[in-house]
Amino acid sequence: MATQSETAFTIDTSSIKFGPGVTREVGYEINRMGSRRVMIVTDPKLTNSEPIATVRESVRAAGVDSVLFDQVSVEPTDISMKQAIAFAIEGEFDGFIAVGGGSSIDTAKTANLYATYPADFLAYVNAPIGEARSVPGPLKPLIAIPTTTGTGSETTGVAIFDFLEMRAKTGIAHRALRPDMGLIDPENTRTLPGMVVACSGFDVLSHAMESFTALPFSQRTAPSHPSIRPSYQGSNPISDIWALKAAEIGAQYIVRAAQDNTDYEARGQMLLAATYAGIGFGNAGCHLPHGMSYAVSGMVKEFVAEGYPVNHPLVPHGMSVILNAPAVFRFTAPTNPGRHLQIARAMGADITNATEDDAGEVLSSLLSKLIHTLGLPNGLGDVGYGANDVADLTTGTMPQQRVLSISPRPVTDNDIRQLFLDSLSIW
Ligand SMILES: [Zn+2]
Repeated sequence: MATQSETAFTIDTSSIKFGPGVTREVGYEINRMGSRRVMIVTDPKLTNSEPIATVRESVRAAGVDSVLFDQVSVEPTDISMKQAIAFAIEGEFDGFIAVGGGSSIDTAKTANLYATYPADFLAYVNAPIGEARSVPGPLKPLIAIPTTTGTGSETTGVAIFDFLEMRAKTGIAHRALRPDMGLIDPENTRTLPGMVVACSGFDVLSHAMESFTALPFSQRTAPSHPSIRPSYQGSNPISDIWALKAAEIGAQYIVRAAQDNTDYEARGQMLLAATYAGIGFGNAGCHLPHGMSYAVSGMVKEFVAEGYPVNHPLVPHGMSVILNAPAVFRFTAPTNPGRHLQIARAMGADITNATEDDAGEVLSSLLSKLIHTLGLPNGLGDVGYGANDVADLTTGTMPQQRVLSISPRPVTDNDIRQLFLDSLSIW
């Protein structure tokens, strides 16, 4: 069958309400959407937090019933997702409110999906692990209230989790999963530890850099039917605007936001940047740094990051992404040097005398300096991996076709292996 190049792109995003104190408006909003009995989805460390108290009070004042589910795990798994789904089916809810980081928001998306259209757990999960079945119709209202400054999950139709049997990250991606609204409230980020802000800030920067440098949408094969056009479409003129601006704001504020937890302005700006980047990558997609990160976090051995309240080894998502990024951008820059220079300039690099041959180095060295400044490990070697692990990391990465396929430069097993080797140490 002849294949045709893609000619269309779409931009989908959630409604966004931004400002100090907007959490208090959640009751009004969920009531306006018609919900009468909602499931509030969060993780155990937020159970007694101010954001949860504020949400419960606001919902109650609006005359809406709520039940708290606080068993989200940081970095969700198929097991923790299934618990949330069972709770959602049992509770017969007609609306969902997620409060927390990407884990809580992704868990709420998944619970909403399977409670609305019950199916075997693997039915909607991305191929090749799952069947990648299309979502049959609209879901129930979902409002997302992020309390970290990174994932942008409030704007995307993607939910990510660890599939434990295969020790692989996978997920569900469909535009129906996208929350109806994101309430972005800088007051909710006050107590975040610096390393959490640094890692989620790097996730923001990588979302921006990856979506801006992704394969252009017009170089993908056109879908045989509009219902199966992927949400990760490749770079496109509207995503580009959001990605560039996210990179600019993120690079400007990440150091202040991470180093001073009283710098309220910087933390608010990082939340804004996360949302901008979410609109960018939610429609364009991420490529190699994220594709490789899933193996890095999925195969963690002993590493525990400071500031993360978990009792098991964990390479935080943003860290597992950014440690691969300098090697990746050196590798991808020759395919579209102009774009690599443009995003480096947005992040504050002086490109006056840079030539196209310098593009990868300019972007990667800017990133390496930031990684060093913010006290992250010096590459995958410092989170417990060595040259002997590279074959396994590569095997864990190759199934991530959804993201690998929009790499601006096609990749083979050997390329991925070399990128992991080059990421073992950064400076
Ligand atoms: Zn990410």
